[in-house]
Amino acid sequence: MLKLLIFVQKDFFKYLICFIFADNFLHHYFNNQYIIMDIPSAEILSEIQKKVILHWNYRYLTELPEILRKYGTHIKEIYLKQNQLSGLPSWIIELYNVTNLYLYGNFIKELPSELEQMNQLTVLDLSKNELSEIPVCIGNLYNLKSLLLNDNHLTSLPNKMINLKKLEILALAGNDLVILPEWIATLPKLQELNVDNNSLKELPNRLTLAPKITVISVCSNRLKHLPLNGFLSSPLIRYSANDNINYLSYPVLLQLNTHLSFTWASSINNDVYYRCKTNYKDKFSNMNIKLSLQDNNVLIELPRQLLKVYNIYQNTATSLYELAIRRIYVESFKHTLNLRTNWEVFVNYESMKLAEAFVFEIQNADNTSYNLIINGAISICTNIDCQQPIFTEAWVIIGQLYFTTTLSVALFCQRRCASEFMKRSNPMTVFDWNCVD
Ligand SMILES: [Zn+2]
Repeated sequence: MLKLLIFVQKDFFKYLICFIFADNFLHHYFNNQYIIMDIPSAEILSEIQKKVILHWNYRYLTELPEILRKYGTHIKEIYLKQNQLSGLPSWIIELYNVTNLYLYGNFIKELPSELEQMNQLTVLDLSKNELSEIPVCIGNLYNLKSLLLNDNHLTSLPNKMINLKKLEILALAGNDLVILPEWIATLPKLQELNVDNNSLKELPNRLTLAPKITVISVCSNRLKHLPLNGFLSSPLIRYSANDNINYLSYPVLLQLNTHLSFTWASSINNDVYYRCKTNYKDKFSNMNIKLSLQDNNVLIELPRQLLKVYNIYQNTATSLYELAIRRIYVESFKHTLNLRTNWEVFVNYESMKLAEAFVFEIQNADNTSYNLIINGAISICTNIDCQQPIFTEAWVIIGQLYFTTTLSVALFCQRRCASEFMKRSNPMTVFDWNCVD
């Protein structure tokens, strides 16, 4: 190593680079020695015997000391951040008192299937490892309150995680997720969801119905829109660095501006022209409806579930299919939304239980309808006297509230609702739009 340094020292820049490499090498070399020399078994043993919480961060451990197996059954928390573990031994399950396991910053590629037996765990931090998948057995860790999986290589999550009924914090930032499963919204205790730095194209509509969620962080993804429906729990939503989001739905915008006071403007802009024809797309198509604004380069992409949009003057009857879906959804979920008070979205939510028999029936009959209902309404009718759920077709008004620069999209269940909204929506500047084919 020294020879190499002398050889290149004439060139200062190269010398610097080699020095950095040499430094890393020596550091690494001594680190490995360190395990053998500096933490003799006797010392580890005494530490294990004296403590309930083991602080073993930054110890350059390449494996969990086996001595822990015999003497560590009383241990409750283990901090193993920034070590060099490439996996966990299967005997880890014998540490049956461990509730908090911190493994941030290791090289773990796989988790042992035995892990499922550690169902006493309440905190599991596996952030900054090399995981490309999470074993299905994680669904058995039903006492987990906090599951941290940031900075791995995850592309999906096992459906069995739906069993994590006590989960409060789920951190998935810095992975390769393209889609979030809908069951995330059904985790009854979930409070914080962090999915920053993934490749998400949309959030599940159903997330708006998550009962306890207070923070949704979805920065640096590829979202084209946030869910259009108002959120049941009015969470803080962080969504910066999603360059394709160029509007918020009217209910969500109001929700995010809950503390603003209103001064009603007197002028009403009713001078709206709609030239968009009904968009006759096959209901199984994945092509999203895109709207462009007149005199504006903004392109608005609506959720893929929406198949037809109408203008305010288009007196078309709502299709029987849409009416049926709305009816079934309202009957099954028995929830109503209230946009009225203080311009916040309040939700009276009676039940999220969907009758099993009903689900079975629909699932067999028509998979698309089933998915639509399970995924939830894409919006509610923005007419405060109506607030019906909307699934596949809507009357659309695009506007701007006077107190904000954000474009807002309001969806209505029928033409009459859109007209009534227009009569009342004084502070809204309304834009003309066209469908983009
Ligand atoms: Zn309506």
